[in-house]
Amino acid sequence: MGMSADTASPAPGTTSIAGLLAAGRTRSLEFFPPRSDDAERQFHEALAGLVDLGPSFASVTYGALGTTTDRTRELVVGMNAEHPFPTMAHLTCVGHTRAEIDALLDEYARRGVHNILALGGDPPADGSPPGGEFTHAIELVEVVRAHPGGFCIGVAAHPELHPRSGDRTGDRRHLADKLRLADFAVTQFFFDVEHYRRLVQELADLGSDRPVVAGVMPFVSVAGVRRMAAMNRTDIPADLGRRLDLVADDPAAVAELGVETATRLCAELADAGAPGIHLYTLNRAASVRRMWDAIPV
Ligand code: FAD
Repeated sequence: MGMSADTASPAPGTTSIAGLLAAGRTRSLEFFPPRSDDAERQFHEALAGLVDLGPSFASVTYGALGTTTDRTRELVVGMNAEHPFPTMAHLTCVGHTRAEIDALLDEYARRGVHNILALGGDPPADGSPPGGEFTHAIELVEVVRAHPGGFCIGVAAHPELHPRSGDRTGDRRHLADKLRLADFAVTQFFFDVEHYRRLVQELADLGSDRPVVAGVMPFVSVAGVRRMAAMNRTDIPADLGRRLDLVADDPAAVAELGVETATRLCAELADAGAPGIHLYTLNRAASVRRMWDAIPV
């Protein structure tokens, strides 16, 4: 016998991440859309190797300037429908028109996606004008909030300041402003819990008490972590830097150090009251699986 619309439980994909955060500490997983056949295999292996961990939610990144619009959308819609946890769609606005964003939001709403990470995004690397109708993430937050889909909205936070920002006070004020319209934030990765504590305190001083989920990266490559840290202006503490140099030629030892570093940080973040831990999976299952049970819930 079929269930009536009144008694059917809502599709898992429509669960709001804000609601999950209100119920207890979340553990979530971030993936990126693959760009080649090999990467596609790796993505599906990673996803298959992680779903049984029972993450609170997952997310899929969005290529700057819309370079992965279709792939991100199809992965998010598919994951959202297939798994018993919601998948959040990252969405950047720089380079897009309002009509493009509205059309994408219409489709997400129609296909059961309820959680959006609303981002500014980066302008073209060659310095050419991005076009489109958006400059900052807050403008996208306003558009998503005004959409009838009733989306739950996350935004990006940069504990060590946004890499293009030299002005701590202004950067925090812009973050507090967009958080006033959003439901929660997810941070860039970092290695020293003090950056997280300071971010949360500075937001509180500005009157913002929205949940700030901590982004944690169990790195697997020394060149990779150094490149991403340089790009995001993430500080690599001196002791970690020395240990990275020592293991650089031994991939297993690098992954081990990545798991050890991320595990310790998760414990420190729990002490600091982080409402959720968002793991940058790098589309790999092994390191995440090894540290999962050590993440305090
Ligand atoms: P904004 O909030 O717009 O901030 C960007 C800069 O502008 C900051 O320096 C801020 O202080 C300043 N600013 C903000 N508002 C104003 C204002 N009104 N006036 C003046 N200055 C202002 N990138 C992708 O391309 N795809 C992804 O999927 C993606 N996912 C991410 C997930 C997380 C958790 C994080 C932390 C980052 C992610 N990024 C992603 C990177 C992000 O898009 C870039 O950092 C981008 O440069 C800025 O995005 P934002 O949302 O922080 O932008």
